[in-house]
Amino acid sequence: MIHIHNLGFPRIGARRELKKALEAYWRGDIDAATLEDCGSELRARHWKIQAEAGLDLIPVGDFSFYDQVLDMSALLGAVPPRFNWHGGKVELDTMFRMARGRAPSGEPAAACEMTKWFDSNYHYMVPEFYAGQDFSLASSKLFDEVAEAQALGVPVKPMILGPLSWLWLGKVREGAFDKLELLSALLPVYADILHRLKQQGVEWVQIDEPILVLDLPAEWRQAFESVYHRLQGSGLKVLLASYFGALGENTRLACQLPVDGLHIDAIRAAQQIGDVLNWLPAWKILSLGVIDGRNIWRTDLDAALDYLDQARQHLGDRLWIAPSCSLLHVPVDLEQETRLEPELKSWLAFAYQKTGELAILKQALVAGRDALNNELETARAAIRSRRESPLTCRDDVRTRLAQIDEGMTQRHSRYSLRAEKQRAWLKLPLYPTTTIGSFPQTDEIRHCRRALRNGEISEADYVEQMQTQITTVIEKQQQLGLDVLVHGEPERNDMVEYFGEQLDGFAFTEYGWVQSYGSRCVKPPLIYGDIARPQPMTVSWASYAQSLSHKPVKGMLTGPVTILNWSFVRDDQPRADTCLQIALALRKEVQELEAAGIRIIQIDEAALREGLPLRRNEWQTYLNWAVRAFRLTASGVADETQIHTHMCYSEFNDIMPAIAAMDADVITIETSRSNMELLDAFEHFDYPNEIGPGVYDIHSPNVPEREQIVELMQKAARHIPAERLWVNPDCGLKTRGWPEVEKALANMVAAAQSLRT
Ligand code: GLN
Ligand code: ZN
Repeated sequence: MIHIHNLGFPRIGARRELKKALEAYWRGDIDAATLEDCGSELRARHWKIQAEAGLDLIPVGDFSFYDQVLDMSALLGAVPPRFNWHGGKVELDTMFRMARGRAPSGEPAAACEMTKWFDSNYHYMVPEFYAGQDFSLASSKLFDEVAEAQALGVPVKPMILGPLSWLWLGKVREGAFDKLELLSALLPVYADILHRLKQQGVEWVQIDEPILVLDLPAEWRQAFESVYHRLQGSGLKVLLASYFGALGENTRLACQLPVDGLHIDAIRAAQQIGDVLNWLPAWKILSLGVIDGRNIWRTDLDAALDYLDQARQHLGDRLWIAPSCSLLHVPVDLEQETRLEPELKSWLAFAYQKTGELAILKQALVAGRDALNNELETARAAIRSRRESPLTCRDDVRTRLAQIDEGMTQRHSRYSLRAEKQRAWLKLPLYPTTTIGSFPQTDEIRHCRRALRNGEISEADYVEQMQTQITTVIEKQQQLGLDVLVHGEPERNDMVEYFGEQLDGFAFTEYGWVQSYGSRCVKPPLIYGDIARPQPMTVSWASYAQSLSHKPVKGMLTGPVTILNWSFVRDDQPRADTCLQIALALRKEVQELEAAGIRIIQIDEAALREGLPLRRNEWQTYLNWAVRAFRLTASGVADETQIHTHMCYSEFNDIMPAIAAMDADVITIETSRSNMELLDAFEHFDYPNEIGPGVYDIHSPNVPEREQIVELMQKAARHIPAERLWVNPDCGLKTRGWPEVEKALANMVAAAQSLRT
């Protein structure tokens, strides 16, 4: 029989119950038992939703108090020595110490590293490896949850992260060895896990190996064969899950591994279905991920049924249907949204609604589309409405997009000429100092923004209070002796939301939270239509700030690629087109800032790098349109106007030519945490324009010493001519407190002064 199943349900809760419970536990307001109760309540609720939708198999093990990769490490007994774990069970507080450095009990220690889960905005805890590391079954969480689900009558499908993906995602912390060497110690524990699950009466287990969609070295591909041969014989049926892309050259490998079923992502890579069908042995299950687990749009059920019908002709009852990946990446329940435009709301599906779509697909396949006419008609009406709605399509925007010519993506003159003109009016000293944009977001500022939102103060009061904040920030910067000032961004809650709220084509949910890491959630904007800018977004704040000083004030914008990458993006046109629309809107803002006398403008591209496709051979296409969108934003101004960009990362080496092609006059970047490691990139690539390598880490409350900063800059000056260097912190200062910021910036300015002499 055709099965419908899920690869994971969001665990945070429709009202972020888990976040609240976790934070209460960390604060000491509730005890561990209460936190555990919250967990089991959420699990039960989510299983029930899926059971009522009629799913044949429901994932268990997708719930986590922090992160599923961390849970896997605990299950395998992979706890770094600094957490003083000496075997036995890995307690909840040990896991929290690994994740956050501290917990209600146990000694604090340096937290494990956290990094992005593939190309999503979810962050996982990086496993750490040591030479000669031992592994052991060290957590009962998975087995307890299986028992818990079975007691509730849930058709369970436990899920674990496969050994190769777990290893791939981790880092060798001590010693120099090949991670694959750990397999021989690791696999017996995996075998134990499967054995335990078998004893619990489990039939199917899902093993996630998402790295199958990456470019894998030959040794890793070979390891897949030996690993899955060795894991045979547990008596369990194994569904191997790949997602986030196409199997590509790993298709044959993945199809032929000795497991009972394969899941593939049919949203990101529908084109792979044919290939997979060709290679899949005639007895294997194929699970097609036909519902988008990474986006919030309702599925075009007819289109899905069209190719499911075809797949079924090949597969018969060996066809399973699922979301493309875990639903962890979408919000929980659309029904809670009361303020969305009803038409727009009808186009959407969150996790809850997506499980419902699965059920319709199955019934339509089994009983025929006619039997499901009502449900399908509702879905059709929504798809039609979205396709034809005037909300999504604006002729003026389309016309402007069609009129973009190459001239619009180029500054009038090349950098060297622009630099001369800019120097002529700017008259900056050597090693000019600046900051990245935001200053501390005090309670006062937050309170004021909230008061405006709740209608407690008038717009005029709000403007006045914000202007007071700007005045303070300008005065402080002048006292500190900074050369290029900023207005401090007090009016911004979030660097993307602030712009999205003012642009047409964006919508915001009330409860559309998605887990980013641990208890932290984000509520990405939703881009549903053509993007336009009805009015200036930042000009009045920037010009007010400029009116207070003779020193140049830098205007501050978030770039098109970052706005795109941190939103749920429409799927009815290429991402590149949406990005260009944002760029056109921002270009207008840049020009109006210039017209208002703001002659230095920073366009932040914090998320440019994270938009890189998972496959290397797709990088260039992405970089081409991303860079083009940035240039379109930045190029509509005179040579004298200085364009800055900022990026919060230092892994540049592999995208250096693209960064240079953005042709910003000045780029400020993160480097201090890596001790200017970034500069290695300059050994091989001569970055042509000006650069401000961040001289201190704003993520830490430590105040940098003047000498430290001087040293870092001297190191930088060995790679980049001093005339092209700026002195600035790593990133915006909004999360810091004023006392440390003032001390740090005073030291930074002093460092610049001593560098000049
Ligand atoms: N201009 C922003 C700020 O200073 C940049 C933030 C970022 O790069 N993440 O806060
Ligand atoms: Zn930054």
